[in-house]
Amino acid sequence: MDIARNLAQTRAAIEAACASVERSPSEVTLIAVSKNIPLEAIKAAYDAGQRHFGESRLQEAQPKIQAMPPDAIWHFIGHLQSNKAKKVAGMFDAIHTLDSESQLKEIAKADRIVDGFIEVNIGDEPQKAGISAESLDEFKTLVLNYPQVRLSGLMTIGPEHEDPESARIYFRRLRELGQRLGVSNLSMGMSLDFAVAIQEGATHVRIGSAIFGSRT
Ligand SMILES: *Cc1c(COP(=O)(O)O)cnc(C)c1O
Repeated sequence: MDIARNLAQTRAAIEAACASVERSPSEVTLIAVSKNIPLEAIKAAYDAGQRHFGESRLQEAQPKIQAMPPDAIWHFIGHLQSNKAKKVAGMFDAIHTLDSESQLKEIAKADRIVDGFIEVNIGDEPQKAGISAESLDEFKTLVLNYPQVRLSGLMTIGPEHEDPESARIYFRRLRELGQRLGVSNLSMGMSLDFAVAIQEGATHVRIGSAIFGSRT
């Protein structure tokens, strides 16, 4: 697994997607999703210049965060149980999965400011976490009551699909919701569909397997 090469290819693909819609690559933050990936591989990515990392479980992330250089930036992208939210806010720089007031109450106890993304259930899938489009304004108002959360934008994990083009309507919908809400950032796009997400306005792409290889 040549992580430096994978990263270089991923960055080149991000630049190409930006060029295709005349966006600047500086508008897009690459989050290397390192869940289920051993520390040595994460360090290899760091040595290749990568600074933003995404993890989805507190227990797994804790030792990694402690072992990595302090200028690594950590994004929590997993389902956030309220009883872990205070600790997550203490360790991570950004939380991408805000969807309940009980999380916000716990984050507020951490005595630290984190960047927050509201998770949107963009395909209205009953089994998925996230706020529905209809309830977004109300939830945004709630978030603004918590100064410990600096509202950054919206995040979504679109419905599963085989063809990246079929994700486009969901990414577009998230962008429209973000504009309506007046937030600037959009966390959307993974290994298979980040190019389409960037064309539709993603500011944060969460990429795991294209960098670190298959997790299985
Ligand atoms: C695992 C994960 C990713 C990365 O997925 P890949 O397909 O490996 O790029 C992105 N976002 C979330 C929320 C994830 O859980």
